[in-house]
Amino acid sequence: LADQCIKSKVKKLVVTPQEINNAAVLGAGIMGGGIAYQSACKNIAITLKDINQEALDLGMSHACNLLEKQVARGKITAAQMGKIICKINPSLDYASLNNADIIVEAVVENPNVKSQVLAEVEKHVNSNCVITTNTSTISIDLLAESLDRKDKFCGMHFFNPVHRMPLVEIIRSKYSSEDTINKVVQYSLAMGKSPIIVNDCPGFFVNRVLFPYLAAFNQLLVDGADFIQIDKVMEQEFGWPMGPAYLLDVVGLDTAYHAQRVMASGYPHRMPLAETNIIHELFEQNNLGQKTNSGFYLYS
Ligand code: NAD
Repeated sequence: LADQCIKSKVKKLVVTPQEINNAAVLGAGIMGGGIAYQSACKNIAITLKDINQEALDLGMSHACNLLEKQVARGKITAAQMGKIICKINPSLDYASLNNADIIVEAVVENPNVKSQVLAEVEKHVNSNCVITTNTSTISIDLLAESLDRKDKFCGMHFFNPVHRMPLVEIIRSKYSSEDTINKVVQYSLAMGKSPIIVNDCPGFFVNRVLFPYLAAFNQLLVDGADFIQIDKVMEQEFGWPMGPAYLLDVVGLDTAYHAQRVMASGYPHRMPLAETNIIHELFEQNNLGQKTNSGFYLYS
């Protein structure tokens, strides 16, 4: 696995965050809002672009809520909160991307929508701008085909919640230049993240590790185990931050099911879809996890 997928672990890199003064994120959803918040907290101005005002308002209120918690805990002052929030520029307009040094596309996980958005973005950015995608499952080589400047494009896969998860997978396409990868590494480090560089393959690195674990979890449930007990053991006794059921609720059962199918088609012998698939059952019932207030657990 490591030979095929992980290219190298980033170790000695000079951080030059001043090269990235302006970032932009497309899509103000769970991930886009989190990326904007994290960038702003690290003093990098960021444009948050969406197609609807409601999503922008939600993204901004998500960032405000996180900052208010920090103020309440005494980690930052109200004045600092004001300065951080001013670093995020909410926008509905592609023209607002014209001075971006780096773009993170974080719109819905649909190859056609992403391809259209990427092609449109390229018309509005300067020729040095690096464009990245936060896709969890779509081939980076495939998405690169929608761009003219393919060398200035790669994957930049953050994890949810962005402000708490250190890892960022930087995924090379067959066209990505070293300069592009370096710039994305610099941006990741400037955001306080730990980047790894991986090749383009189904599941990149993390989902190749995660989905066999989730398949084992599914089998335990089929064999009659209780998900609450499994979560309890993984969290309290094994020491992981969360167990598999809660993790799936946070990620979203729709996102997880979609990724599961990608893994099954990429690795049909090693990761086939199980005959009884609890992720699929919850997805079919629209119990999508925290986003619908019900998944494995109920939320209010
Ligand atoms: P989401 O549904 O919460 O947000 C998507 C946003 O994109 C919405 O606000 C929508 O209005 C906006 N959008 C749609 N079309 C657009 C367009 N043409 N231009 C600008 N904005 C547009 O989705 P999400 O969970 O934030 O996922 C976004 C991306 O991040 C997906 O590719 C997903 O696979 C990836 N991702 C998600 C997670 C996760 O745990 N949810 C983790 C890692 C990566």
